[in-house]
Amino acid sequence: MLTVEEALNKILAGVSALPAERVPLLQARGRVLSEDIFADIDNPPFDNSAVDGYAVISADTTGASPDSPIRLREMGEVTAGSVSGQAVTSGTCIRVMTGAPMPRGADAMVMREDIREDSATGGAEKNVLVLEAARVGDHVRRAGEDVTRGQKVLEAGTLVGPTEIAMLAAMGQAEVSCIRKPRVAVFSTGDELVEVSIKPGPGQIRDSNRYTLAALVGEAGMELHSMLHLPDDQDATESAFRTAAGMDGGQAADVIVTSGGVSVGDRDYVKPALEKLGSLDLWRVKMKPGKPLAYGRIKNTVFFGLPGNPISTMVTFELFVRPTLCKLAGQTDLCRPLVQAELTDGISHHPGREEYVRAFVTIKNGRYLAQPTGAQGSGVLTSMLGANGLIRIPESSEGLAAGDPIEVLLLSMPSTAPTQSVHSEKAIS
Ligand code: AMP
Ligand code: MG
Repeated sequence: MLTVEEALNKILAGVSALPAERVPLLQARGRVLSEDIFADIDNPPFDNSAVDGYAVISADTTGASPDSPIRLREMGEVTAGSVSGQAVTSGTCIRVMTGAPMPRGADAMVMREDIREDSATGGAEKNVLVLEAARVGDHVRRAGEDVTRGQKVLEAGTLVGPTEIAMLAAMGQAEVSCIRKPRVAVFSTGDELVEVSIKPGPGQIRDSNRYTLAALVGEAGMELHSMLHLPDDQDATESAFRTAAGMDGGQAADVIVTSGGVSVGDRDYVKPALEKLGSLDLWRVKMKPGKPLAYGRIKNTVFFGLPGNPISTMVTFELFVRPTLCKLAGQTDLCRPLVQAELTDGISHHPGREEYVRAFVTIKNGRYLAQPTGAQGSGVLTSMLGANGLIRIPESSEGLAAGDPIEVLLLSMPSTAPTQSVHSEKAIS
């Protein structure tokens, strides 16, 4: 039986990024760029004002202060989106709004806050009093100071978030070439499962895993191909896998993920179906929760048969499926951060399998603290509720004590302990 690490390495070695496709700009968010992006123009494209104020010749303002203001004649105004035909000459200024091009002749901006209107002025002539000296370049954004034309602004392989969208938009990329996101088909299996809207009868339980898996796929930023419940029936199982793998002529899922029916029970049909239609490349991993796990392929579709106990489903998805989806999506950061933490309570453990214990992780005095969430049965949904970390107990461990250093896989960033956070509602109330 493989360890978690061996299994993950084997799985990841067998998959590579999906092909690229061109998508409208906003759809690039959450995808990985498949090409370098070069600036098609300077950014900013022209010298412009960083403030609302007055374009001046800085030498005209030398020595200006509230006690000895310097009078300049206001020649006109330029708003964002227009270009001034006028030039600033010695003794004059032009009113400029933020983002408007600098008028010719001017070499600095004086902020409106450092200007007083000159009430002594009469007639059509308008003068202002400068209260603060300007230096060359003050409050002016130079053309190309951010990006110059031809410069590489984004590299192939970059995961696109809002900031990358900003750069792509500024560089005129209305369509972007990205790695396709994996489409994932999700199946729950089991004759005991009923739809969420139904009150379970004798021997029945609600089908939570199908929704869990669909939500995990969405949370990983991937696309759902389909989600179905399968009875414990060989023909129905094979037929559903054939369809999801595109063997009936429809669109193939890139990945199939099933829950349940993957062990050695009389009515566990996932493994036999996978073996019949494709290949079983890995079965069972030396871990808890989640020992029965099948991995393989049907045609080009990657196949994961996860165990049916809800916590086992979630933990094995996290450890194996999520990194695989990220790799297919072209990402390079495949796994969650593994951090050193201090254990708050003792945990018993019998040597033999690596164990993943759900935990609340917080930060106190700059260190991670991990508190197990309570009863850890693989069907105990509450053990995962609110958990933001998985404590990794080594295979050989004979149990851990409070205060022991441990490794934790961070599922999401912990907050600081409530007493330290001024933003925490708990700290305020
Ligand atoms: P199995 O792996 O099919 O033997 O299932 C293991 C345990 O997980 C059994 O107690 C099942 O009833 C439970 N289980 C399987 N599938 C689901 C599901 N979709 N939702 C909730 N529990 C499930
Ligand atoms: Mg079952």
